[in-house]
Amino acid sequence: MSEAADRLAAVEANIAEAARRAQRPVKDVRLIAVSKTHDAAAIRPLIAAGQRDFGENRVQEAAAKWPGLRAETPGIALHLIGQLQSNKAEEAVALFDAIHSVDRASLVHALAKACAKAGRQPQLFVQVNIGDEEQKGGCAVAGLPALLAAAADAGLTIDGLMAIPPADVEPAPYFALLDELAERSGLPLRSMGMSGDYETAVMLGATHVRVGTALFGMRGQAQAKG
Ligand SMILES: *Cc1c(COP(=O)(O)O)cnc(C)c1O
Repeated sequence: MSEAADRLAAVEANIAEAARRAQRPVKDVRLIAVSKTHDAAAIRPLIAAGQRDFGENRVQEAAAKWPGLRAETPGIALHLIGQLQSNKAEEAVALFDAIHSVDRASLVHALAKACAKAGRQPQLFVQVNIGDEEQKGGCAVAGLPALLAAAADAGLTIDGLMAIPPADVEPAPYFALLDELAERSGLPLRSMGMSGDYETAVMLGATHVRVGTALFGMRGQAQAKG
């Protein structure tokens, strides 16, 4: 097996074990391999090992890398996990199967327009600023009901919530809060958990985990900010 295949098998085994401990069906958890900053040569071994869901944080970078890779292998699902500018909504709707970063009413309106024009809607997650941190992206916890109402008014289906907990503190309470917010809002999907904490996230209800470093190794220093 390649190194990529080894890493993938290890992450999949950890997810299966966390799901087993939480008495959840492992098929309810989707592993997104976060390939931002990594080139096609680094991505191909994971595709060869069977991975099909990939995450990118920039529309431009994804548009440069993925059409070629998709032509090589059918069945790839692409997830946008980074902030989206409203003027790139059309391009994002055309390229991605899921957008995890819906965070404001102006973007909801841009996406509604783009989806109507394209005649398709990617799966959509509202990103919640789960720790109410000043610098962090995502909609405020208190603003979630209004944003969900705006999406419904615009004719968009929101499928779930996404969050990135505050750094350097125990993430479990934030995962539990995101799960509770999703439950209260009647949304089936929860995108939470990264390389350092995906097992905890699975135990607390994650349906999508976004794992980069544990699958690809460290991102280059110069590219660390994506
Ligand atoms: C980069 C990134 C990840 C993956 O982080 P790792 O720690 O490398 O697993 C997950 N989610 C988001 C939103 C990211 O930007």
